[in-house]
Amino acid sequence: MSIKLVDTHCHLDMIDSDDLQESVKEVSILLTVGCDEDEIPKALSLGKKFENVYVAIGYHPYEADRIDESSIRSLENLLKSEKVVAVGEMGLDFYRNNASKENQYKYFFMQIKLAKKYNLPVIIHSREANRETEEIIKSESIDNGVMHCFGGDHNLLKTALDNGLYISFAGNVTYPKADNLREMLRYVPLDRLLLETDSPYLSPQKVRGQKNKPSNIRYTYEFVSQFLNIDLERLEDTVYSNTLNLFKIKKPEVVNR
Ligand SMILES: [Zn+2]
Ligand SMILES: [Zn+2]
Repeated sequence: MSIKLVDTHCHLDMIDSDDLQESVKEVSILLTVGCDEDEIPKALSLGKKFENVYVAIGYHPYEADRIDESSIRSLENLLKSEKVVAVGEMGLDFYRNNASKENQYKYFFMQIKLAKKYNLPVIIHSREANRETEEIIKSESIDNGVMHCFGGDHNLLKTALDNGLYISFAGNVTYPKADNLREMLRYVPLDRLLLETDSPYLSPQKVRGQKNKPSNIRYTYEFVSQFLNIDLERLEDTVYSNTLNLFKIKKPEVVNR
């Protein structure tokens, strides 16, 4: 097992404890995302518990009708906590309409401001909202962050890249029908590429149908290295250093084990 595998987006609070133990051993850096009132404290405590677990906190667009401005103030107070390296996931999701568009916009804007204030990268979730997300990236000049679980079109990809954002692909890039997504992958410069599991969701094709865990990230690395025809080790090195760069993580000692 490589010592440089990273999973830049997972929800560790939803992973079974055996899978969690295995994952923190096999993956050298894990970024767990706490994106609602319940998950945020769990993510913070996982960051305290495991040396190689880093934390992003923020409000998912699904939460937009359930939170208020005081939620954003408490989020702000937690941003200085140990291991917090990003704000999010935040953004727009018009696929599931779990929250009004108006509130999705409102809290997306508020969280972008917060991230800028503390000079933290944003983790953007965008689904069925390509044009709207593009507009916000431009109007708010978002230049520090990542488009997580990328599923957008070429225009959104271009806008994100032009603004300096990283692009992260999840296990769905390995699915047989995901040709469009793979075309986007081909277009991403290697120095802007990240990979994630989004565990417990989106298990890569080899383990599809099972609950996903961060250690499954290796299947995505293998797939992407073959698809892009680059050496697996080079891909691991690249994604690893991109992760350190974006999230300003110092080389963790755990990789020397
Ligand atoms: Zn998401
Ligand atoms: Zn997520």
